[in-house]
Amino acid sequence: MCEVALFRTIGIEGGSGILFHQFYQQEYEGNTSAGFMAENVESKIRDIVYVDMDGVVVNFPYDVEDVDESIRRQCVVANKAGRHHSDVEGLFATLLPIEGAAEAIDRLMERYEVYLLSTSPWANTNAWSDKRRWVAEYLPNLPTKRLILSHRKDLNRGAFLIDDRPNNGAAQFGDYAGQEWIHFGSANFPDWPSVLTYLGNLAQK
Ligand SMILES: [Mg+2]
Repeated sequence: MCEVALFRTIGIEGGSGILFHQFYQQEYEGNTSAGFMAENVESKIRDIVYVDMDGVVVNFPYDVEDVDESIRRQCVVANKAGRHHSDVEGLFATLLPIEGAAEAIDRLMERYEVYLLSTSPWANTNAWSDKRRWVAEYLPNLPTKRLILSHRKDLNRGAFLIDDRPNNGAAQFGDYAGQEWIHFGSANFPDWPSVLTYLGNLAQK
């Protein structure tokens, strides 16, 4: 006699993070009686943490004087013409990580499902691909396809959003039950160690 075991996912209950499976065990080959049973098995799935890029993981130059020398002049010209320097093609390719950010994301991944949730300037189409390449270069431990570019961060469902500004739906993300906006750079969360401590003493590891 041998046994066949099949797992079939029958649903995910929103918010609770509980994934329900139905378990079937069937006996066959010589067993003509019932030989069939089912029971529910619960398994916990991990909470999702979204992480903004600019000002949280990426050292974005909010002041044009802090822009990389190679592209600063173009940015100054853009500012004088009334355009923000984030709209200058190539700017995002010059940006470097914030100190400790990559290591912090590694710590987060030990406990959470981590996705980057960033907004790319609509007028700067080049920035969209720069961000994709940036992730591959500076966050090699992050699994592929964990970058979400959106102007409506509030449309994403998850436990936490770590973001330095309320813009593009970041503040509204925290209006949903079971969700929280962690205001990076604020008095409560001035830096990565404070965020890691809040999210489970991860800074101590
Ligand atoms: Mg930001």
